[in-house]
Amino acid sequence: MVDSDSLPLSGEVALVTGASRGIGREIALELAAQGSDVGVNYNSSSDAAEEVAGLIRGMGRSALVVQADISDADAVGAMNKTVTAELGAPTILVNNAGITRDMLAMRMKSADWDAVVGTNLTGSFLTTQSVLRGMLRARKGRIITIGSVIGTVGNAGQANYAAAKAGLAGMTRSLAHELGSRGITVNLVAPGFIQTDITADLSEEVIGSVMQRIPLERLGEPADVAPLVAFLAGPGGAYITGQVIHVDGGMVMG
Ligand code: NAP
Repeated sequence: MVDSDSLPLSGEVALVTGASRGIGREIALELAAQGSDVGVNYNSSSDAAEEVAGLIRGMGRSALVVQADISDADAVGAMNKTVTAELGAPTILVNNAGITRDMLAMRMKSADWDAVVGTNLTGSFLTTQSVLRGMLRARKGRIITIGSVIGTVGNAGQANYAAAKAGLAGMTRSLAHELGSRGITVNLVAPGFIQTDITADLSEEVIGSVMQRIPLERLGEPADVAPLVAFLAGPGGAYITGQVIHVDGGMVMG
């Protein structure tokens, strides 16, 4: 165990949405490894979330497991209340939770549009709004949202997902304007193809065509994304705001 006072994120309280699995799990563990206490949000995977919290406590940090569907404003408000009461007001928010409901636009059901936009876009807004009072009071905060290369370049069958992720980029820039004078930075980390449950069911054919667009010639891992999030949350990220940063092996450049 490392003395938490000597770490870049010691004394910080992070709230990570969708921290039970995949990229969010890795981010929660990385923030804790760098000294932060962590609110581990999940929607349905309670055992997995408890496991993440156990690993964080094993590093000597505090962890709190909080169930909330981030598309539900009341649940999000209650989550922030609980985290604030138990760990302190979040100084770092990672809007990570996200879903896909892929279908060509002609056949996409409005329920699938609503679910993806409601979770990925509205859910990230609601969660951000819920932590803002505490950050404004503290006059400091780091808000890092997980977007996607799909929000930049689009993808057949993902109009709902692309719209939500592009919307997050616009939200990020607007919030960076609103909150810069209050010492709060707001950035979007846009991963490319990362190996998690969300990408597990894609065919060899789809993966093969994705691989052709990756100059670094490999698929990404959650551990390729988490260090950038921790950097943006830490001292090195102090003068970076309103940015969309791709972590994608070079899929999207410029
Ligand atoms: P994942 O393995 O499927 O994990 C998704 C996480 O989000 C889970 O922890 C899940 O919690 C949580 N979640 C889903 N709906 C939720 C809701 N309504 N409220 C609260 N939590 C909810 O996905 P991932 O690949 O790690 O993706 C994480 C983020 O990265 C997403 O925003 C995704 O769009 C983005 N991203 C992923 C890739 C990729 O290639 N994997 C690429 C670009 C961007 P439960 O298990 O508890 O339901």
